[in-house]
Amino acid sequence: MSLKKRIVAWYTLWTLTLMAIIFLLFFSFSNTLSLRSLRHDVEEALSDASSLIRVRSGRLNFFSVDEVEDGIYILVFSSDGTLLFGREGIGAVSIGYQEGQRTLSLSDGHWIISDMMMDGYYIRAAARESTIYSMISSDYLLVLIAALVMVVISALGGYFIVSRAFLPLERLISTASEIADGDDLTKRLESSNAKESRELSSAFNSMLGRLDDSFKKEKEFTDDASHELRTPLAVIKAESEYALSSIDDRAEVEQSLSAIIKETDRMTRLISSLLELSRADKGSIKINKRRFSLSSMLEGLSEEMSQMARERNLSFSSTLEKGIFVYADEDMIIRSVINLINNAISYSKENGHIDLLLKRNESVAIISVKDDGIGISEEDQKRIFDRFFQVDKARSSSSSGLGLALVKEMAALNNATISVESKLGYGSTFTLSIPIA
Ligand code: ADP
Repeated sequence: MSLKKRIVAWYTLWTLTLMAIIFLLFFSFSNTLSLRSLRHDVEEALSDASSLIRVRSGRLNFFSVDEVEDGIYILVFSSDGTLLFGREGIGAVSIGYQEGQRTLSLSDGHWIISDMMMDGYYIRAAARESTIYSMISSDYLLVLIAALVMVVISALGGYFIVSRAFLPLERLISTASEIADGDDLTKRLESSNAKESRELSSAFNSMLGRLDDSFKKEKEFTDDASHELRTPLAVIKAESEYALSSIDDRAEVEQSLSAIIKETDRMTRLISSLLELSRADKGSIKINKRRFSLSSMLEGLSEEMSQMARERNLSFSSTLEKGIFVYADEDMIIRSVINLINNAISYSKENGHIDLLLKRNESVAIISVKDDGIGISEEDQKRIFDRFFQVDKARSSSSSGLGLALVKEMAALNNATISVESKLGYGSTFTLSIPIA
């Protein structure tokens, strides 16, 4: 059974129970009241009859006394119990005199009986208790019908309200099924007036938006990855074919083979970066955090890097504050800094200068890699940490645009942050901030 029908069934059952309780209360209350009123009527009928019956010269005179009126019997007996007036054959005739009113259970029902002695006779007014039912049964029927009508109305009303309340949920189900059947994640739920369903639709829509984004990103990522892998493969194939065709020319073959090795290295680098990014996404990347001296680590690194810079006719300087320790994965921090310095070398201008800086700012160690190279436009700064993003693909043909994306992932794994400040044509400063141990 659907939730909607179940709610309406429970609701109707509850209304029905409530109505039954009200009806029973009403029934017992009106019974008590009617019985009280019947007792009073019997007493009154007795007193009326006593005023209409006269004993004159030992004889009884009845002035228009009815034997039965509104279910109340008037009986007159002689002192020895012989019925002189009234209906024979009823239970109320069979019992003896007793002053006052009493309730008796006789062969033909429960009776209310009132007796009164008058000049050697006794007068009796009697009524069956069941008289009240004939008096009020039509009222009961009316109340019962009204109650049933109310139950039906409330069940229909309940069904209407529940159906309206479930409308957004049904729309949600149908949109979700449409999405499940097809692959259109751009579909959105309409907003409705009720607060809860509005919140539900907006939560569902934002979830759809996020799913849509992440599917698009994944697709872009796969497209980019395939593209990046296809290029070196095409070069390898072309060089192999060329080497094969000029197999007798040793110099040409050597040149082709070294080109193949270069492309294979590039592919290997690309595949390991992809693997690492995928591990970072899955959360399965291994981190080996420990306390180490960032100052000493950068001192060693700056010597190697200044050598590299010199080979490219660039000058390199470093200003490193001593005694700065951090708690992080040393290997990841080294790789991140190398990546930043390599970029600074790659995107520098002729005879450019690179500056490596380490300082402490309160509880954070700040590493800056500053260059006076080509710089990055404000628009591109927003995207340089995206996977596969390259400002100028032709300029960095040997790289793939995954370096900064990996630096960002590694920084996050070490509770560090990476940021960039740059001006197109004037140079860039990349800053890595790591919490101090
Ligand atoms: P790549 O492997 O292409 O260098 P990165 O992720 O390291 O990939 O960098 C992404 C892009 O950001 C680069 O292609 C380049 O356009 C830009 N970039 C990175 N570092 C610098 C820098 N120091 N100066 C200018 N541009 C830079």
